[in-house]
Amino acid sequence: MFDYMPWWDEDTRQFADEVEKFVDEELVPRTQAIMERNEDHMSIQWEASKLCVERGFHPLMVLAEKEFGGRDKGYAGYTILNEEIGRSNINVNPLLTSVFGAGPIHLFGTKSQKEKFLKPIVQGDKWASITVTEPDVGNDAAGVQLYAEKDGDDWILNGWKRYITLGCLSDYHLVYALSDPDMRSMYRHLSAFIVPADSPGITTEKVNQLIGDVEMANSVLRYKDVRVPKENMILGDGDGWTVMTSALNIERLGIASVVGSTKNLFETARAYGRRRVQFGLPISRYNGVQLRMANISMRMHLTRVYIYYLAELLDTGEADMFSFALKSSTAKIFGTESLTENSLDALYIVGGDGYLQETGIGTILKNAALMQIAGGSNDILRLFIGRQEFKQDVDERMINPSVRGPTKEEAEKL
Ligand SMILES: Cc1cc2nc3c(=O)[nH]c(=O)nc-3n(C[C@H](O)[C@H](O)[C@H](O)COP(=O)(O)OP(=O)(O)OC[C@H]3O[C@@H](n4cnc5c(N)ncnc54)[C@H](O)[C@@H]3O)c2cc1C
Repeated sequence: MFDYMPWWDEDTRQFADEVEKFVDEELVPRTQAIMERNEDHMSIQWEASKLCVERGFHPLMVLAEKEFGGRDKGYAGYTILNEEIGRSNINVNPLLTSVFGAGPIHLFGTKSQKEKFLKPIVQGDKWASITVTEPDVGNDAAGVQLYAEKDGDDWILNGWKRYITLGCLSDYHLVYALSDPDMRSMYRHLSAFIVPADSPGITTEKVNQLIGDVEMANSVLRYKDVRVPKENMILGDGDGWTVMTSALNIERLGIASVVGSTKNLFETARAYGRRRVQFGLPISRYNGVQLRMANISMRMHLTRVYIYYLAELLDTGEADMFSFALKSSTAKIFGTESLTENSLDALYIVGGDGYLQETGIGTILKNAALMQIAGGSNDILRLFIGRQEFKQDVDERMINPSVRGPTKEEAEKL
């Protein structure tokens, strides 16, 4: 039975039930079949992604407005779906990548951009990649070097992108490019473009071999004199940083929804703990095992409440983008680090069996490690949170006089 948030309306509750049913009836049996075949849980990412689309459960479809083929279930619906798919322990990274790639079109696209680009992605006829990272540009995303020059009404793109998930498989690349280096100090130096992947001048230079996230064609791409019409620019010339940071905030909420995988770990550890007998008792009766279980449970419940609170802020329009950046970073850090720790706690509860491919714990652990890196590394996001918190106004009522420094007037008398 789905654990609703108390503030959800009837429609959201019904949607949660609908998703839960779909996952139980269609995804969970597929996971069980993979386990019986002893295969990597990532091996059916594409099959599962297409199935989700067919049944109306593409996260972008759930989010998008009805006029663009979506179901308009808001960020609550989007988070419910991400959480539930995670519970099945089937990766659907083609869907998630497309959401992150098309997110800027959903957030800021014009009606005609949505009609032309968003609709086919929502319907699963097309796939999108997000292309921020470059050989010399990682966390310092404002340092994008792939450059865009104006040529009449068009823009010409030149440069490199790397680590691009689905890079050589997707139909559209959402490209961030340097359009005016002189505007860097004002963060108006970047622009965002929707680039058809078959545009002349785009070549795939390499497909990386990864330790996880297999079959996602993680690509190094080269752009040489790639012509893009101005209609493909999202917002205006110089708005790329606004587009990127807003979209990343949403992406971080999506990443934190990996809490669904924790549910999977939780149930695996619980079932095993009850069943496995050592020293004459089920291991669930031993304090050491209970402590690990408590850790998994606490991290899971806290992450869930926080991500649905963020979804509510977005759905009710109460999220101001600045404070939301802090909150979505918090959710991403807490959610992904919890998932890593939960994977290890579950692995140690299950013991040797946890190290077998078939329990799927290893897949979740590898995914958890990636999620700490992707969408801005957790270390960098921590620095951002710490720096911003020191910049906030001080609440004078809370300051203990013994640690308070001198006021301006007092300092003048010293
Ligand atoms: C499987 C996979 C899929 C990916 N998919 C995509 C994709 O689809 N699209 C895309 O655009 N990108 C993608 N990426 C790239 C990913 O977003 C980047 O790896 C990430 O942004 C970090 O950049 P980096 O790896 O270059 O690390 P770097 O920025 O080089 O950082 C390396 C280390 O240095 C630390 N560090 C850097 N600067 C500081 C600082 N100022 N203070 C303290 N510590 C610092 C970081 O925390 C990190 O630990 C993918 C990556 C992987 C591995």
